[in-house]
Amino acid sequence: MPVTLPNEVEVLVVGAGPAGSHLARRLAGAGRDVLLVEKRPEIGNPVRCAEAVEAEPLRGTLGDLEPGWVSQEIYGGRGVGPDGGEVRYEGEDVVGYVLNRRLFDRGLARLAAEAGARVSVRTQATAVRREGGSWAVTLHGDGGPREVRCRALAAADGVEGLVSRWAGAGGPWPLTELHSCAQARVVGLETEPRPLVEFHLGEAVAPGGYAWCFPLGGGRANVGVAVDPSRGGFEGARLYLERFLARNMPGAGVVELSAGCIPAPSKPKRLVADGFLAVGDAAGHTEPLSGGGIANAIQGAELAAEVLSASLTTGDLSAGRLEAYARRWAATVGRSLRRYARLRRLYLRLGDRDFNELLRIMNEELERWREGKRTSMVALLTRIVTRSPRLLAKLRFLL
Ligand SMILES: Cc1cc2nc3c(=O)[nH]c(=O)nc-3n(C[C@H](O)[C@H](O)[C@H](O)COP(=O)(O)OP(=O)(O)OC[C@H]3O[C@@H](n4cnc5c(N)ncnc54)[C@H](O)[C@@H]3O)c2cc1C
Repeated sequence: MPVTLPNEVEVLVVGAGPAGSHLARRLAGAGRDVLLVEKRPEIGNPVRCAEAVEAEPLRGTLGDLEPGWVSQEIYGGRGVGPDGGEVRYEGEDVVGYVLNRRLFDRGLARLAAEAGARVSVRTQATAVRREGGSWAVTLHGDGGPREVRCRALAAADGVEGLVSRWAGAGGPWPLTELHSCAQARVVGLETEPRPLVEFHLGEAVAPGGYAWCFPLGGGRANVGVAVDPSRGGFEGARLYLERFLARNMPGAGVVELSAGCIPAPSKPKRLVADGFLAVGDAAGHTEPLSGGGIANAIQGAELAAEVLSASLTTGDLSAGRLEAYARRWAATVGRSLRRYARLRRLYLRLGDRDFNELLRIMNEELERWREGKRTSMVALLTRIVTRSPRLLAKLRFLL
């Protein structure tokens, strides 16, 4: 049941994905009066995500994960090049998870409610207005439109969200800064996939992107394709997915299909305005090369909650004060995202021959590492210099 909407609240968070729920949880835990609204009738459903995360950053922020949040523990990865050559790492420790986003998202929203946030589903923000030092937000719920005032407004409304734009803090994503994705939940795989995340590269597989297969256990997997929409088109992802499934898993059943976009920002997006901040995909906090955004959404929400809570205490909600959140982000996770943005620019310049060569060289380096020989990024680059001047010419752009 949707909650009765208040006339006023201290903080209004729009969107109950991982970013919004974690932000609401932390703010409510700090004693703030928080309303979290979600337009869907059921949090976490439908799932438009391949659900894979690195273990360390997620556990670093959330601690132990609840039973049911993880479908499959992951022990390594496998990359397959256009010529079928592969590079594979499989260790003994858990390095990641394929989550159950339905239960994960719902669990995070429950934790927010337990911390004291009011959570209202089937409640959509449709307009925002700045008035007298606060925000007036129009919410459409079961009882029709309603205006709620808040001292601080947080956009956690995902890649398609409009709240940042309404608040004057950002425009739509340009085509060049998006991955276009299509995904299938497949069942009945004849061979149980190894507990590895698998990536397939190549112009015929996914132009400007990659195809993935993330195991879920029980002969099931999330299989998807991300393409650069300027090369594959928005329709393209679905067609490449059909082709990938037909070629690699002809006997498997598809029980769910989904499509969506992921931001791949080339530079940091504006995160704050007076009394306003953005988190998660709405803030462009996805890793631009792989498109992974779950762990970043939660890490960003953690920082945002600290800064916003302190700002509410001092009563200074100016953009200048909230900029501390953007600075802290830029100095931590944002730093590595900038590196990945440069890597994506390089990635988009590589062709099939480059991928084949790169995977071969990485394989040799991995072999040396397995034999106990020292290796490093410098060693990898040195090997590229000696093995492939053509690849080096492209990589120089990175240095
Ligand atoms: C096909 C695909 C595969 C992906 N695979 C991975 C992966 O394997 N690993 C990974 O880390 N990331 C992956 N991602 C990215 C990941 O899903 C996002 O980065 C993550 O969900 C971001 O969380 P969020 O809370 O910012 O946004 P979201 O999870 O998108 O949540 C936003 C919420 O806001 C709600 N909302 C929107 N507008 C309004 C409104 N006006 N009023 C009220 N509510 C509103 C939406 O309904 C939604 O519930 C994938 C994305 C796609 C599309």
